[in-house]
Amino acid sequence: MNGIAARLKPLLGDIVREDLPTRQSHRRDRWILGELDSSDDSLPAAVLEPTCTNDVVKAVNVCRSERIPVVTYAGGSGVCGAIRGSAESVMLSTRRLTGLVELDPVAMLATFRAGTIGLDAERCIESHGMTIGHFPQSIEISTVGGWVATRSSGQCSTAYGNIEDLAIALEVVLPDGRVLRTRRTPRTCAGPDLRQLFLGSEGTLGVITEVTLSLRPRPPSRRGHAFHFAGLVDGLEPIRIAVQAGWRPAVVRLHDAVITARRFPQLCSDGRCLLILVHEGPEAAVTCEVAALADLCRAHGALDAPAEAVDHWLARRNHVPDLRELLRQGTVAESIEVGCTWDRIAHVYADGIAALRREPGLVSASAHVSHVYRAGASLYFVFFATDTSPEQLADTYRRCWDGLLNAVVRAGASIAHHHGIGRVRRHALTEELGVTGVALLRQLKRALDPADLFNPGVLLPDGDAMD
Ligand SMILES: Cc1cc2nc3c(=O)[nH]c(=O)nc-3n(C[C@H](O)[C@H](O)[C@H](O)COP(=O)(O)OP(=O)(O)OC[C@H]3O[C@@H](n4cnc5c(N)ncnc54)[C@H](O)[C@@H]3O)c2cc1C
Repeated sequence: MNGIAARLKPLLGDIVREDLPTRQSHRRDRWILGELDSSDDSLPAAVLEPTCTNDVVKAVNVCRSERIPVVTYAGGSGVCGAIRGSAESVMLSTRRLTGLVELDPVAMLATFRAGTIGLDAERCIESHGMTIGHFPQSIEISTVGGWVATRSSGQCSTAYGNIEDLAIALEVVLPDGRVLRTRRTPRTCAGPDLRQLFLGSEGTLGVITEVTLSLRPRPPSRRGHAFHFAGLVDGLEPIRIAVQAGWRPAVVRLHDAVITARRFPQLCSDGRCLLILVHEGPEAAVTCEVAALADLCRAHGALDAPAEAVDHWLARRNHVPDLRELLRQGTVAESIEVGCTWDRIAHVYADGIAALRREPGLVSASAHVSHVYRAGASLYFVFFATDTSPEQLADTYRRCWDGLLNAVVRAGASIAHHHGIGRVRRHALTEELGVTGVALLRQLKRALDPADLFNPGVLLPDGDAMD
């Protein structure tokens, strides 16, 4: 038994796991650079597996008094390097912190323990004729607590909102062991909204133990429609007009020509771009929305695409190629999502793709638009790059990341839309929050976690600037 596990075991008992397979399965998230970095072989000293909020309080108090850093590990599906083991720290796994705590069918609210896997939560709610409406591609491997901690977005966010719109109350164990419960209310004006502190906090400000989600009835009707546009930019205008006019298709996904050719080879040829729309809701509303969007798209030069394109996307929407296998073959694949306003989006797309194409080693660069708002949308870039050795591939990967991020920020984009910050983007946080914003976040962190024990090295950039 290592020193940390030996210290914790008498104080925390059975929730402490220090067997090798458990520590190995909690060593890091799915950040692809973790796979490339041969120096990153560290394991957590132990894995703590609390089963209730009281266990979490106990674990947090013991780790604080023993000055042991704590990293919360949920589904481990994060892609930004927010989870990394070290021999000096422990993982607090939410694996056994699962299940429905309370369902209120009148207010349509469901409270889940934070470690509940997203698909389990959705299935549980579906059996009551309702939906959470949050469908990240990782729904089978991510948790409701992880969604909150990373400010996640689902594929139907245009209709149902992102996690910050759905998680209306939280229970959080703070680094000093106190338990914060925000009120279940549709809205409040009682000062700043404390929920927001923990949305996107990535384990740095405490452990989220329960999440109350606002539900909807399962949509009685669903219809899809697909259109071809000559180029990605041609498809932006009808989408902007539709969303600003108040239409809210559940799914709005405009793929550029490269992705269209890769993902829909039989259904869309000759270099065109494919727009997928999925409309959900009461039948009458769906009928009107389908007609309104079709009119707008056709008026902006779109041609109707085969209906199978929607079925094809729906059937494969959670399929991801095995990126580790690709890596073994010498190719790294990565996605980078940013937000931008409508006036900038065409520039952000063009500059982002151009920046990627300048990188030697780049095999392919593409993007799609999704998560659409009145003010703008998310652009989701995907690149594939290759190099001769893992070390060189890691350098190529970093150059692609930095080149893309610098270019899109210069063109007016935010640094992130829904994957979070972790380690991969923390150096760029000042671009987003400004020097004063980063200093304020650092002050909040110090106030809540003065010993820097909760997920150190994540989210905040290096340095000590307090402005
Ligand atoms: C194939 C694939 C597809 C994806 N698709 C999407 C997508 O469509 N939309 C999207 O938004 N993201 C997507 N992601 C990214 C990822 O799934 C999300 O960031 C997800 O919200 C992470 O949840 P998790 O439970 O796996 O958290 P983890 O990866 O375990 O943790 C993520 C961060 O949150 C912290 N954390 C987790 N739980 C808690 C808690 N209870 N209390 C405090 N801190 C906590 C961790 O310490 C860490 O910093 C995808 C990832 C993959 C691999």
